[in-house]
Parts: sequence; structure tokens; C-alpha cells
Amino acid sequence: MTSLTFYGGAGEIGGNKILLEDKDAKIYLDFGQEFNFGEEYFWEYLQPRGANGLEVYFEFGLLPEVEKLYSRKKLERTKLKYQEPDVDGVIISHIHSDHMGHLPFLDEGIPVYMGHGTHKLAEIYHKLYPSFFNIGTHSSITHFRSREKFKVKHLEVEPIHVEHSAPGAYGFIIKTSKGNIVYTGDFRIHGPRKDMTEEFIKKAKEAKPYALICEGTRMEQESEHNFTEKEVEERVSGIVSGSKGLVFGYFAMSNIDRFMSFYRAAKENGRMLVIDTRLAYVVQEMREKIPVLPDVMKDRNIRVYYRLAKSCTFTEKDYYVWEREFMENMVTYEEIKKNPSEYLVHLNFNRLIELVYLQPSEADFIYSSSEHFLEGEGNEEERKRWEAWMKHFGIKFHKAHCSGHASKKDLERVIKEINPEVLIPVHTNVPEAFKEFHSNVKIPTKGERLEL
Ligand SMILES: [Zn+2]
Ligand SMILES: [Zn+2]
Repeated sequence: MTSLTFYGGAGEIGGNKILLEDKDAKIYLDFGQEFNFGEEYFWEYLQPRGANGLEVYFEFGLLPEVEKLYSRKKLERTKLKYQEPDVDGVIISHIHSDHMGHLPFLDEGIPVYMGHGTHKLAEIYHKLYPSFFNIGTHSSITHFRSREKFKVKHLEVEPIHVEHSAPGAYGFIIKTSKGNIVYTGDFRIHGPRKDMTEEFIKKAKEAKPYALICEGTRMEQESEHNFTEKEVEERVSGIVSGSKGLVFGYFAMSNIDRFMSFYRAAKENGRMLVIDTRLAYVVQEMREKIPVLPDVMKDRNIRVYYRLAKSCTFTEKDYYVWEREFMENMVTYEEIKKNPSEYLVHLNFNRLIELVYLQPSEADFIYSSSEHFLEGEGNEEERKRWEAWMKHFGIKFHKAHCSGHASKKDLERVIKEINPEVLIPVHTNVPEAFKEFHSNVKIPTKGERLEL
């Protein structure tokens, strides 16, 4: 008997938590948190307390009340009695919280499997943002690499890298008694590493899978133009070359491809890319995993921005120990203000205050992110503030972005090429739309077992 139970990711974008049961083996594919997790009840400062266990989540049905899954401590004040776990492994596809955000609730004894880069990134982020990116405590975390098969009980799992908006993303081919099951995780095929996704498609096709669990973030949206990462770089470069003043850009810190696009656009235009200490730390720490990344300490096209801190003198003691290492390559608002047209500055939302010191004139700003959110949704409150600040300083607002997910057209090609017997949509608001591309679509319902 082989079955799948979607405790998250069924009929919604994100929150993937897929239980695969085959004979006596039980594994989870991802263990993420939904994007709108608890927003019906919680907002701003009204949040479940960190010290609490699962009682608050169970009260509102935010997490499934499944036995033999959660840690003893998290179950203390709930009606669910603690029992030894019966899950053989949790396999994580990539770093995004909608795929691994609920790891801290798991029983410590359940083995966790994740890509070597994903674990490294999680450690880096947790150091920078101690209250976020907590992956919890696990007695065993096994790292995998692309094509290196591993076994969980009798199940053979082959991870294969895919391209996505975060590095170190994987899809999987799992050998079960029912045949091969392919899980895509999140992926795209229009960036500099599309070759990785192509390799995954090829391998998945060769596996002649019984079932394909395929993400469909962009299934509902026939976008007017599916920009590639290269086109984003060209657009950023065009804006930079046309600007007389300072140029600012915002992109998500985990989007390494986008970092490289901005880096190259700055270089092409004889400007230096200015990044804050956090981004500098991420880039420097990830260099051993991603050799294409420039050396933040030595690269002449990069400068590291130090904010005005307590003493207002830009001296060591004003900064955390981990950020002091980049001080040799320091740039401050004073230097940038003297020659604004020499810089392209990465600017985070919570660093907008720097504009007060930089006092830009004739400046441009490039918004280069939408994370997992589709246009207009989710980021509304933040975007209003971005726009107010831009207006206040007379900065011209531009957009340059491409998705971390495959377009509808690409999804069609992937499904037809892999050609599974059964197609199971996940990570999509419109699972029905998959019927356009396949004659045997099984749409999962949250919490219900789907027999294969
Ligand atoms: Zn996702
Ligand atoms: Zn993702």
C-alpha cells in the first residue's frame, strides 16, 4: 500500500508537508509553514508565544493533530499524548520557510535530510536573525548532494538539484513499491542554472514515474512576458546606465542569482555594488558552496556599507563581531554622497532610514523582488512605505523581477516530458488547471489520505 497525505500544500501555495507511506516506511517531503499561517487569528503583536508548545496551534487547527510526530515538550499542554515517533525521515527540498518552517515542532528523534547548502544557509541566517530560521533540535541531520542516492528504510531517494530563487534547491525521485514517485519541490527553468532543472527533468523522465507531485505556483497566471534572469540583469543595467545619480536596488538576500545580476549590472556600468554587512556575510560564507560568488573582501566592484551606529564614528565597537571583518572594505554614507553616480546600493526595507543620510538627488530605485507572492498580494503594506519614501526623496521607482517558479508554459513542458501515470498538483491555488495538461490528475485534499 502506497499513499500520500498532504498536511499542507494542497490547494495552496506553500506550506508543503507531504506524508508518503509505503509498506512500513513513513517519510515526509518538506515540513513547511503556510504563507498565511494563522493570519486569521494572529496579527502584528498578537502572536503565539515562542515558549509555548502546540496548544495554541491545535486550538485553531493550524497544525494537524498527528500522533507520533511532535516533540514531547511541544505536546506538554495538549490533549495529544506523547508517543515515540514512527516517522522514518523528513526530507527537505530547500531553505524557504514554506518548506521547512515547522521543523522545530518535530520530535528530536526523527531523522532530517537536507541539502548540504540548505543547512549551511539556515545556519548563516539563524546567526544573523536569531529569532528566525530556527530549524529546531534534531538528533540526526543528514546532508545530501545532487545524484547521491540515500535510503530511508526500503525507500531509495535520489535528490537532483533544480534551479529556484534560493540556492541549494532539490527535486526527488523516490523508489516505492508502487513505482517511482517524483517530487519537484519549487523550481524554475529561466535562470543561469536552468541546466540543473533540465537534468532533473531528464532523470525524472527516465525514471518512468508512477506519480509526479508537481508544484504549480504560476499555473493560474498567464503572464504577459516571462522574463528570464538575463533579461532582469539587462533591465537593471539599462536603468543604471541611464541614471545620473545614485541607484538603489532591493532583492531578497537568499536570491543569489539576483545578487549576481545586480553585481554584473554594476560592473558593466563601472559602478560599485554596495551591500550591507548582513548580505556581505551571506555572500562570503556561501563562497565555499557557490564558487561563482565574488570575494567581498577583495573584489574591487563591491563595497560594504556601514550604517551610522551608537558612537557615530564608524569604529569597531559599534558593530557585531561578525560584521567587523568587512571593515577594510567599508563605505559610509559620507563617501557615497560625494560621488553618488559611482554606486549601486542594495537597500533593505528596514534600512530605508539611510536615505536621510544619503540625501540622494536624481536617484533611481529598482524593486527586484516579489518572493513567493504574486503581484499586489501580501506586500501591500510594505510597498506603500517604499513608495512614500521614494516620493519623499524624489526617487524614480522601477521594477525588474522574474519569478523563482516555472511559467505555465514551462510547467506544461515538464509534465508532458516526464509523463507520469498520475499527476498530483501541489503548491498551487488552482490544482484543477493541471487537467489541461494531463488526463489523470489526482487533486489532494488537506489532511486526507490519497491512495496510489
Ligand atoms: Zn515554496
Ligand atoms: Zn521556494
